[in-house]
Amino acid sequence: MYSGTCLCGSVAYQIHGEIGEVVICHCQRCRKANGSAYAVNAPIKCADFELVKGETSLKEFCSSPGVHRVFCGNCGAPIYSKRDNDPVHYRLRLGTLDTPLTHGPSMHIFAASKAEWNVVCDGLPQYAERP
Ligand SMILES: [Zn+2]
Ligand SMILES: [Zn+2]
Repeated sequence: MYSGTCLCGSVAYQIHGEIGEVVICHCQRCRKANGSAYAVNAPIKCADFELVKGETSLKEFCSSPGVHRVFCGNCGAPIYSKRDNDPVHYRLRLGTLDTPLTHGPSMHIFAASKAEWNVVCDGLPQYAERP
């Protein structure tokens, strides 16, 4: 089991299942949503996600058609995204995890949108968009 919280602690969750393949996403929407060079995301099954607290704090923003970003309305921390075309998965924002994760990222996606000041030197495959 994994657990996580937002920055202010209003939102707490548990994941009763596996965390899927970890990807580093450089798309402009992830960069802006995180205020950083990229987001580190991994799929989880919605059915494995339990919101322990913070239901009233969670807010949603539709960043492109069919893509909803769910974040803490109090501190702004991104928690997960969900897609209309993939209703069984969330894409967890791994920076909110409090439990150690034993597998690291496997690839960079949307590398064509990478911030020009961000130097990637981890040797992982980079895809212009998705593999
Ligand atoms: Zn918060
Ligand atoms: Zn992205």
